[in-house]
Amino acid sequence: MIIHLKKNTTSEILNDMAKQLKAFHIKQENRELLITSSGLKEIPTQFEDYIEEKWVFDSDMQLSSKAYNSNKTEIDLGTVKIGGNTNNTILIGGPCSVESEDQIRSSAELLKGLNLSVLRGGCYKPRTSPYSFQGLGVEGLHLLSKMRNEYGLKIISEVRDATQVEEIIEHTDIIQIGAKAMYDQGILRACAKTQKPVMIKRGFGTSLQEFTQAAEFILSGGNPNVILCERGIRTFETKTRFTLDLCGVAWLQEHSNLPIILDPSHAMGYAYGVPSLTKACLAMGVDGLIIEAHPNPALAKSDASQQLNHDEFKNLHHALQPLARSLGYNIV
Ligand code: PEP
Ligand code: MN
Repeated sequence: MIIHLKKNTTSEILNDMAKQLKAFHIKQENRELLITSSGLKEIPTQFEDYIEEKWVFDSDMQLSSKAYNSNKTEIDLGTVKIGGNTNNTILIGGPCSVESEDQIRSSAELLKGLNLSVLRGGCYKPRTSPYSFQGLGVEGLHLLSKMRNEYGLKIISEVRDATQVEEIIEHTDIIQIGAKAMYDQGILRACAKTQKPVMIKRGFGTSLQEFTQAAEFILSGGNPNVILCERGIRTFETKTRFTLDLCGVAWLQEHSNLPIILDPSHAMGYAYGVPSLTKACLAMGVDGLIIEAHPNPALAKSDASQQLNHDEFKNLHHALQPLARSLGYNIV
């Protein structure tokens, strides 16, 4: 249940209610809110006088639901906005991993040349093998910060464990929580304590209910700036890396108030399929697309097979323009 308290509720009563109802307390646009488990359907009578409004739910998808707030969350990155009432589709580009200054500078120049706003690049890579390239760590984050300062780009990079959250906050504009990390409660709770935008990627075995509940960890802790990212789930099919769940996206668009970014690169796993999948994603009317691109994909230290080269990225950007215009979206 989400409970909006009357203005005259004293902090003593608020604290007492929060304790008795085992509720989270957050402030949203000057409203004092308590969020309990969705199992609570009735307010205990002694608290009834303090209730301005309440929302009862049949699942723990509460703050993220359209049933609570039908307005889509707007993420303000300063130079560009995502979600809300904007008709922006943010096209995030850049390599899977930051590998060197030359490489990430080439990515920054690619984006700048296309008037795009957000550069991606992982520095803490959640690799399946301990023997694979694990990312440049803090050295990579410094390179991203350098690109942010020199090119005025916004930065998204992933956090692999909770100890890195502060570092990632300092060097990025959006924190990425990866598909394998999205169940990590340490990361989710740390991301709840900042106002920095957070993009959560759906795990490849994660139901939509679990996905939105991961978002609830961040929202109920006081950070409203959450973006969901569909990046493919595992099915019986092995010819493609994962299966991009566009049905799930339609469900999220219907039931959730959070902006949605789609990642065709990780879903497909092969560069040849990325341009056509990206067009299909754009046609879904989503808030953003995140595409891996590398100056020389054959030499990439991670996800080599799925990264577009820079000419392919430029061609894709060009091909998306008329489609975006016909659908009423601006690619930013
Ligand atoms: C990535 O974005 O490079 C990545 C590792 O993605 P995911 O967490 O979706 O596998
Ligand atoms: Mn990758």
